[in-house]
Amino acid sequence: MKNSSLYNNLVNECSRENVAKLLSVDSEVELNELYKHALNTKKQFTGNNIYLRGLIELSNICLKNCFYCGIRRGNGKVERYQMGFREIVDAAVYAWKNKFGSIVIQSGERNDKAFVLYIEELLEEIHRRTNHELGVTLSLGEQTEETYKRWFERGAHRYLLRIESSNEDLFYKIHPKDERHSYTKRLKALETIKKTGYQTGTGIMIGLPFQTIDHLADDLIFIKEFGIDMVGMGPYLEHEDTPLYEHRHLIPSSAVRFRRTLNMIASLRLLMPNINIASATALETLDPNGRIMALQAGANVFMPNLTPEENAINYFLYKNKPLYNGQVIKYLKDFEVKLQKSAQLIGYGEQGNSQRYAARV
Ligand code: SAH
Ligand code: SF4
Repeated sequence: MKNSSLYNNLVNECSRENVAKLLSVDSEVELNELYKHALNTKKQFTGNNIYLRGLIELSNICLKNCFYCGIRRGNGKVERYQMGFREIVDAAVYAWKNKFGSIVIQSGERNDKAFVLYIEELLEEIHRRTNHELGVTLSLGEQTEETYKRWFERGAHRYLLRIESSNEDLFYKIHPKDERHSYTKRLKALETIKKTGYQTGTGIMIGLPFQTIDHLADDLIFIKEFGIDMVGMGPYLEHEDTPLYEHRHLIPSSAVRFRRTLNMIASLRLLMPNINIASATALETLDPNGRIMALQAGANVFMPNLTPEENAINYFLYKNKPLYNGQVIKYLKDFEVKLQKSAQLIGYGEQGNSQRYAARV
């Protein structure tokens, strides 16, 4: 194996230099070898199964103004929605009946009491209606310690909060520098999530303006040093109604962003063999086979969108988000056939919890 010494170096010494080398691999032969090695590592540590999480995009109402995001508060063009209680529970029951094993509830950020309570009641009802068999991940932004606790006690057991970039300077190039968008607070929130007992997830965007390979190498080192259990990272996709769009000339080409994302996933798998890594939806916007390719390069989690279409069309964090037009089960069947090429199966009915979490608690 041509790069075996590089892989070994990396495991022995997780330095910026070694990680950056791996991220810079770009010849077809070397890329294939890297992805194959990551796939084998994944199979060895987490098995042949891909785990499903039905994604429910609960609301696009958001208090924040992240410079990259299409549903930021300042975007007046967005028609705002919040899914009704019944609708959300129905989507969760649908996931359970179709043996998805887990759901992810994601939303714009709100911190008011009514919202906190709404989520509590939802969690209770979802668990009651699904015989307490469904894994539940929340991705609802930064909250107080008390809120994280309340949701954990009501049966949310995973939380995903992307750090977006672990580099503070870059963080403030993509967020306003104010109380609501504080790097220190985001980091603290991630620590609180871990302390509360959640399987803790984070991630970043890949291909941002101003972002270098060294930033990305540092992001992977951050993820490893923090002791993360699960990761969702994907390509940054520009949105014309956001402030970051003015820097679009600084974004790498789609092909580069795509390859960089796969390299990040494969490298992370080598660095942290027993974590869960999601195949980002945004990859499919860049390549129709994007999500399959990520699952063949070290990712082991797949998140089909279960948000009703009339809402999903208003949850455009970025443009050209893939939609299923009510055909999610058919899509999955096709997906399963494609997965067989890399001898992988869908883990129907399994929660697919992070093995790293199981090992650390
Ligand atoms: N409001 C919550 C969860 C919803 S946003 C939060 O911010 O944590 C979920 C993720 O979408 C963000 O963490 C961000 O990484 C990603 N995202 C937002 N805009 C994006 C864009 N233009 N391109 C790619 N990913 C984007
Ligand atoms: Fe809101 Fe999350 Fe988008 Fe930021 S990334 S504007 S917090 S939905």
